[in-house]
Amino acid sequence: MIDIASIRNDFPILQKEVHGKPLVYFDNAATTQKPRVVVERIENGYYNVNANIHRGVHYLSQAATEAHEEARKTVQRFLHASSPNEIIFTRGTTEAINLVASSFTDACMSEGDEVIISVMEHHSNIVPWQLQAARKGITLKVVPINPRGELCLDTFRELFTERTRLVSLVHMSNVLGTVNPIKEIIEEAHAHDVPVLVDGAQSVPHIRVDVTELDADFYVFSGHKIYGPTGIGVLYGKEEWLDRLPPYQGGGEMIATVSFEKTTFNELPFKFEAGTPDYIGSTALAEALRYVGRIGLAEIAAYEHELLVYMTERLKEFEGMRIFGEAAQKGAVVSFLLREIHPYDMGMLLDRLGIAVRTGHHCAQPLMQALGIEGTVRASLSFYNTKEEIDRFIAGIRRVEQMF
Ligand code: PLP
Repeated sequence: MIDIASIRNDFPILQKEVHGKPLVYFDNAATTQKPRVVVERIENGYYNVNANIHRGVHYLSQAATEAHEEARKTVQRFLHASSPNEIIFTRGTTEAINLVASSFTDACMSEGDEVIISVMEHHSNIVPWQLQAARKGITLKVVPINPRGELCLDTFRELFTERTRLVSLVHMSNVLGTVNPIKEIIEEAHAHDVPVLVDGAQSVPHIRVDVTELDADFYVFSGHKIYGPTGIGVLYGKEEWLDRLPPYQGGGEMIATVSFEKTTFNELPFKFEAGTPDYIGSTALAEALRYVGRIGLAEIAAYEHELLVYMTERLKEFEGMRIFGEAAQKGAVVSFLLREIHPYDMGMLLDRLGIAVRTGHHCAQPLMQALGIEGTVRASLSFYNTKEEIDRFIAGIRRVEQMF
């Protein structure tokens, strides 16, 4: 059971007033708020454990190194990866996908090879592949969706050719909320001997992820979407793949030896972590993962599903309401349009009532094109939200409706 009063107490920002009204924060898909323990961890890191990590002989450097490597193990356990060497710290999902796109293309693809993505991808799982397409002449194949916002799996199966080298798909859509059957997708791809990258930016905060059970080849997520700090994220990669791929960036930390004649690279995971890593961010991310773990992902999923069902029912009370994405497996994200009211107007007016939602294309313009719209209003929920907040949100929409 979720103890909502105690949870909300952990997030000081939720007590805030916006435009004189208590804040209702429904923009969790964009970023989540931070519990006190995460902020305190950052403060404690800078006050007490701050020194550049690795190779330092002095006390503080060793303490900071230990904390950073312990954080890597926390991420490893969280994802159920088999080794800490499979956990690479990045700046976020976007950087992790760019890393794989660049290194995988260099090592494993040549002109005419194909990558399968889907129409529901975030720009960060489209544009890195387009950059590689321009550089190396690879081709993108796109899985369409059905009217409920689910991937067309029959078409997906038909997209494989002998030139398919990688499948790169989102686990949970940031617009539709659709949770894709990623295990089935991975099985299908592996039957064709094709590895799979999973964009877990939206799934990891809401669904228990076990990369070993999924047999994912690469799995990426961002710290800030799972109650951790901004500027840190994770690339999980099977060791055999990470060993095969060349470094993404060059610099300190990622080398074994450097001379002007020849440089050799460091072992995993450091080969992919050029420069001073965010060793404060990594420990704060680990703190966030422990916090989520204490509440329990099964409890989080059950409570958020209850909120999703309630919000969806209440939104359907409005005449002329269009909800985008009604997948059988869906996370707590609702994108909608009410009659002809522009999403921007809806977002602005709700903001005056203290209610934070996101409006626009949500970094998924190709999806908007497929849906034949320019944008939506999106309300995305967290375990710290409540039915009372949903009631205030519904009353807010009613007021906006009356103004039009
Ligand atoms: N993928 C999905 C599905 C997302 O929702 C987002 C962010 O909204 C990203 C990738 C990019 O995440 P970041 O900006 O943290 O790198």
